Amino acid sequence: MINYSYPLYRPPAEADNIIIQATYGCSYNNCGFCSMYKSKKYQVRDMEDIYKEIDILSLSFPNTHKVFLADGDALSLPTDYLIKILKYLKKSFIKLRRVSVYATAQNLLAKSDDELKVLSENNLKLIYFGIETGSDIILKKITKGVTSDEIKISLNKASNANIKISATVILGIGGKNYSKEHIQKTADIINQTTVNYLSTLQLGLEEDIKRRFYRNFDDFIMLNDFQTIEEQKEFIELLTPTNKVIFRSNHASNALHLSGTLPRDKNRLLDELNYAANIGQDAFIPKIFRGF
Ligand code: SF4
Repeated sequence: MINYSYPLYRPPAEADNIIIQATYGCSYNNCGFCSMYKSKKYQVRDMEDIYKEIDILSLSFPNTHKVFLADGDALSLPTDYLIKILKYLKKSFIKLRRVSVYATAQNLLAKSDDELKVLSENNLKLIYFGIETGSDIILKKITKGVTSDEIKISLNKASNANIKISATVILGIGGKNYSKEHIQKTADIINQTTVNYLSTLQLGLEEDIKRRFYRNFDDFIMLNDFQTIEEQKEFIELLTPTNKVIFRSNHASNALHLSGTLPRDKNRLLDELNYAANIGQDAFIPKIFRGF
């Protein structure tokens, strides 16, 4: 029996995989739009407790191929600590092929290229990374704590170490005033890095963080669904990745669900967006079924 510490978040793609909390909370916990770990203090879990949970889970699920290390940024762990966990996972799950984590630019910048290579060699094969936006103006307003250059450098460090990247971008994060800036600068990041999976979410603000968000972003005007679809269209139009990117816009927050592979499906995705924009609100998922 695993006593998870809640709230516990994992990427949708990890729904069928083993989850082990290597840390609690998020080591940064300061992004203006995010309330995920506001109720949790960041903590590195005791190694013996992690080993015990791996022992229990490996007995129940010996054929496990994939493990997700939670919580908010397990890549914040010191490299030698993380390698001990990765080695123990490998020893315990003999069919293990991939370990994944949420990671921030700060986490990646704090590790050397050699450290990232060793992590990759020990099965850390995928990171989930919130780009949110490529605009320095917006990054500052949402208190993301990094610049667009640091995001690019950190993503390139991960791919150079043979770690795949699943990135998220938040539609509407610049509001009405910075929509063009958001889309242009975010597309630049995708076009200048090697993101393997890309998802677009649609901004929603939980009640408990609204005041703080608007304090730092006092000229923010929330986009409606039509404006968000327009933003999505402009973003896809500007994407010219040189590598294959699996694209999804199927998060619980999205007004319209899309999926495809870029650059191959670009025109089809744009056709779907144009079709929905023409139909109007009836084409969108009702707000009652959505959440950020
Ligand atoms: S780094 Fe991620 S989990 Fe942490 S506060 Fe920012 S968005 Fe939330």
